[in-house]
Amino acid sequence: MRTACDSTLPKALSQSYALIDTHTHFDEPMFAADRKVLASKALAAGVQHLVLVGYLQSHFERMQQVAETLNDLARQNQSPKAHLALGLHPFYIEQHSQDHLDDLADRLNESRPLAIGEIGLDTFTNALKQDAVFAKQQRFFDAQLDLAVQHQLPVMLHIRKAHAKALAMLKSHDFEAKKLGGIAHSFSGGEQEAKAFVKLGFKLGVTGQVSNPNAKKLRRAITAAVDEFGLSSLVIETDCPDMTPVMCQAHDSCGNAPPNVPANLLWVLFSLSELLNVAPDDLAEQLWQNTKETLQL
Ligand SMILES: [Zn+2]
Repeated sequence: MRTACDSTLPKALSQSYALIDTHTHFDEPMFAADRKVLASKALAAGVQHLVLVGYLQSHFERMQQVAETLNDLARQNQSPKAHLALGLHPFYIEQHSQDHLDDLADRLNESRPLAIGEIGLDTFTNALKQDAVFAKQQRFFDAQLDLAVQHQLPVMLHIRKAHAKALAMLKSHDFEAKKLGGIAHSFSGGEQEAKAFVKLGFKLGVTGQVSNPNAKKLRRAITAAVDEFGLSSLVIETDCPDMTPVMCQAHDSCGNAPPNVPANLLWVLFSLSELLNVAPDDLAEQLWQNTKETLQL
């Protein structure tokens, strides 16, 4: 059983905040064995909604099934309510085909997900920087923005080491984040980029990375966006199983670090509250409003 850092969770406080985990991969098979327990812990920590975010077409069916299971539990007050975002992730660009885009388009015609995502551009590795590979990323990003416009849906952006190009594409596309909503998930750019995304109408998705005092660039970017545009610029996410907050990284007796879990969202709230010097209850209320607004919830 994964206990995350619940031994140190301030239980008296944990009931008090209504939270939305805007970005998770809680459908990953690694969670299968104890997903039910983890879902109930997330709810106990205040997480009332979570979004399962897509990255490969081959996982869409699984995501749907996990969402149904979680929503059965949610009806019995044992899980956050689960929502789906469907999309083809730029990091996995070589695995995507036109068939997958067509399948995504068909699914959108059949039932409406909460958002399209995660989509965007990523040049983290040399392989991803190759002209043909990056061109394919741009084609898939553009095509999925078209789908978002067609279905009037918000988007979940994954942008890594490609912020300038992504901003240029978003500015020339008729997708309007101010109207349809959107989140720059696990934001990793600098101050100017943070402000540019917020100015376009996106919220910055803040993960457990904010709990790391050494994540200076990230902490400065978040603070700069809030200084200029206010607390309405932000939403929070766990991005579980990744991005574990530092206070939840204790290794087990075998030396394994536990995966991040939705219940740890509370620590993202606390860390952000400390960084911005805003009381956790005020911040939680603002983040709730921001999320509802940007995801058309
Ligand atoms: Zn993700």
